[in-house]
Amino acid sequence: MSSNIASPLTDHVHDVAVVGTGPSGLVAALALAHKGADVVAIGPAPAASRDGRLETRTAALLASSVDLLKALGVWNRLAREAAPLKSIRIIDASRSLLRTPDIEFKATELGLPAFGYNVANTALVEALYARAREILPAVIPASVTAIAIDGKKAVLNVRDGASLSARLVAGADGRRSVCRTSAGIGVTERHYHQSAIATHFRHTIPHENVSTELHREQGSITTVPLPDAHASSLIWVGSAVEIAHLIQCDDESFIAALGGRLGDILGAVSDPGPRAEFAVAGLAADRLAARRTVLRGEAAPLLPPIGAQGLNLGFRDAGALADCVADALHRGRDPGGADALEAYAEARRVDIMTRSLGVDLLNRSLLTSLLPLQVARGIVLHGLNMLPPLRRAVMRLGLVPPTELPSLMRPGSG
Ligand SMILES: Cc1cc2nc3c(=O)[nH]c(=O)nc-3n(C[C@H](O)[C@H](O)[C@H](O)COP(=O)(O)OP(=O)(O)OC[C@H]3O[C@@H](n4cnc5c(N)ncnc54)[C@H](O)[C@@H]3O)c2cc1C
Repeated sequence: MSSNIASPLTDHVHDVAVVGTGPSGLVAALALAHKGADVVAIGPAPAASRDGRLETRTAALLASSVDLLKALGVWNRLAREAAPLKSIRIIDASRSLLRTPDIEFKATELGLPAFGYNVANTALVEALYARAREILPAVIPASVTAIAIDGKKAVLNVRDGASLSARLVAGADGRRSVCRTSAGIGVTERHYHQSAIATHFRHTIPHENVSTELHREQGSITTVPLPDAHASSLIWVGSAVEIAHLIQCDDESFIAALGGRLGDILGAVSDPGPRAEFAVAGLAADRLAARRTVLRGEAAPLLPPIGAQGLNLGFRDAGALADCVADALHRGRDPGGADALEAYAEARRVDIMTRSLGVDLLNRSLLTSLLPLQVARGIVLHGLNMLPPLRRAVMRLGLVPPTELPSLMRPGSG
């Protein structure tokens, strides 16, 4: 990736170049700017980034991610389009002999009004992009094609005949990250032979701000409340064959299949939205930082869409990166130097490792037909049902990482 570097747009060397204008890249650029860094964001504008692909996903953002959006002046643009998540219900819909009773986690058990809020990805990215254009010195609507890195800076090709320089590259350019390759960081990929559909639908029984997860052998089916009490978003994870069928079938057959799986949980279902398919895969980068580059969001790691962890993890990457860069600048250090890279990797290691492991284990425990694993899963779920202190501990762990939250994500930081 170091050849064919073009002539510079300017001689200026930015503190940080954030590559990728998905939600985790934009939130990182805003957090860095908020902390006083000279930051430039590079990536296609939202509609160009979708490149004709449907973006039907919503993001269940945990309270700390919402606190970050508040601190960055973005939440006021989204609040009216967001639905609070007050409860999470888990239903064992497997055919296992050891079916567990339903479990409901309530935010009120932790003294919280809600675990977080559900918001459409398109609305989130549009709001972040608009804010970035307001406050960043430059948002460059282009793709990075090559990066050359030396002892003092990274030079990024941003379009034919132009380049720009930064002391640190924040790679938020998704699962096929150019930044990761340029930094020489390898990956380990996990394949689950599953796929997912994201869409939305209407229902006759109000959701009452409860998200429901049906755990099945083929994968989970999750409904997440939308602002309309009679509408929910849907993530249907299943075998590649099941999902291919559900993508191709007509609306009537899809609704019949959905109604059959949900039973009477939300009453009669209707009006399915457009259906888009997303691969279910896992990816772990060998390192989180190397050669003036840090990786963020789905550039490292990529998780299956269970338990609303992926983007929330990307937001915590953003907050931690902003703290590390601010600290380096405050102490007159190079934000792309070895100390700053190590500080970022250290700050993120445990959170990323525990979430990746947890999501992988949960997904595999659903897919397995091994009795001992089914028994272990049953014991854990029974324990959660019977023991409120254990349930509260697990809820807290789901909401906040075992390490300290980044400064912009602490309640009231905005
Ligand atoms: C069905 C489904 C449901 C989900 N639900 C949730 C949920 O409820 N809660 C949650 O926390 N997470 C959820 N996730 C995960 C979440 O959607 C992802 O973590 C998140 O969208 C990833 O954002 P990102 O910015 O890291 O990556 P992306 O959205 O992939 O963005 C990468 C960006 O980089 C740009 N780019 C790529 N290459 C270059 C380049 N060379 N130069 C410049 N730019 C480049 C792309 O155009 C894109 O804009 C879900 C995932 C799925 C599949």
